[in-house]
Amino acid sequence: MLQLFRKERMWEKRPLKDRYDVVIIGAGVHGLSTAYYLGKLGVTNVAVLDKGYIGGGGSARTTAIIRANYLTSQGVLFFRESLKLYEGLAKELDFNIMFSQLGRLDLGHTDSSIFGLRQRAEINQLLGVDSRMVGPKEIKELVPAIDLREGKTLPIIGALHHPPGGVVRHDAVVWGYGRGAARQGAEIHPFTEVTAITQENGRVTGVETPDGRIEADTVLSATAGWSSTIAKMLDLELPIVTHPLQAFVTEPLKPFMRTSISSANLHVYVYQTDRGEVVVGGGVDPYPTYSQRSTLQTLESLAGHALEMFPFLGRAKVLRQWAGLCDMTPDYAPVMGRVDGLDGFLITAGWGTWGFKAAPVAGRSIAELIATGKTPDLIEPFGLDRFRKGKLVNERAAAPAAAIH
Ligand SMILES: Cc1cc2nc3c(=O)[nH]c(=O)nc-3n(C[C@H](O)[C@H](O)[C@H](O)COP(=O)(O)OP(=O)(O)OC[C@H]3O[C@@H](n4cnc5c(N)ncnc54)[C@H](O)[C@@H]3O)c2cc1C
Repeated sequence: MLQLFRKERMWEKRPLKDRYDVVIIGAGVHGLSTAYYLGKLGVTNVAVLDKGYIGGGGSARTTAIIRANYLTSQGVLFFRESLKLYEGLAKELDFNIMFSQLGRLDLGHTDSSIFGLRQRAEINQLLGVDSRMVGPKEIKELVPAIDLREGKTLPIIGALHHPPGGVVRHDAVVWGYGRGAARQGAEIHPFTEVTAITQENGRVTGVETPDGRIEADTVLSATAGWSSTIAKMLDLELPIVTHPLQAFVTEPLKPFMRTSISSANLHVYVYQTDRGEVVVGGGVDPYPTYSQRSTLQTLESLAGHALEMFPFLGRAKVLRQWAGLCDMTPDYAPVMGRVDGLDGFLITAGWGTWGFKAAPVAGRSIAELIATGKTPDLIEPFGLDRFRKGKLVNERAAAPAAAIH
């Protein structure tokens, strides 16, 4: 007989204990993926706490583009591994994450942007990531609806094509990781805000919540846009500034494009979902704030830039618009690992506008660090101490948001 309702719960509601081996602050995609991979390594006395509902932060607001065509060797190797994990994730979690590998085009409109894209193509190919330069003819074949007419201020003169890039169903990834983590023993506690972090003699010993104090051997902050507020509880200043990022979708239209397209010069990216909606996003708003309100000004500017590529969209109706918080670092790369002078405290942050695609490899790596005490090679370049040592990982040219500053 057709089973209309799932009998099994995704995760159980359990009473909060006063001690765990690991407390993870933030039940977004990063907190939950870390809990999942910890479970696989046998670390199961874990609580994931969130001040809101599960996956309600940046993970609920992402446009969920997955790709590995970054610029630096450190970035390409890291995101290449994450893309590989995404390819097997539905099977791994036994949950349909709806990963559509529709490919990705990064457009170039000027000599300097083509130079940057070529550099990425070379590095991508050297490191085994499928991406190469294409000209207007191939762009038109891939996206027949795109407007390549001459006479524009920013003509499309080439693009970086990355066929394995795609889009995933963000809620499904969050739920899949949450269910997977809970099945292995982790507890998930929504609406449980961390209000303070306790420490003794340079060692973090737990957290405080309105429901009481919790002790832990390890506390991980996986709070993305709120990372600085958590760090402040420890008198720690992070090289992170929180900016809002906005996006909108149109009503569903008949399929007219399969590939996702981004243009750093036009400050915009566009793709069509399997349901037909056109998703349009761009770079972060230029002011720091913790407000998650969207604005008419950004809607107008994003829409204007999208119309440069697809003028016929001028008649499409906007269904909804939203904003989320992005924890931006000066080098557009993440921050993962220990914090010098604070034993028992780890951070996974600096996820900016690019963090959803990183969740599988970041969660797996942080879990390995917690379980073994050793920092995996893949995340070694992304330590917080790189800012003190002056060893930045400059991904600015590969993050679409970069162009807006
Ligand atoms: C509009 C938009 C589009 C984006 N598009 C893409 C994209 O196409 N591809 C991509 O890879 N990335 C994209 N991103 C970025 C991506 O969404 C984020 O980097 C990612 O979701 C961060 O996940 P997270 O788990 O680290 O943080 P979040 O999902 O933000 O989770 C952090 C959680 O911490 C909780 N928290 C905060 N403070 C406390 C506290 N004191 N106590 C308890 N809990 C607390 C919050 O409630 C929140 O649920 C986009 C972001 C936005 C806003």
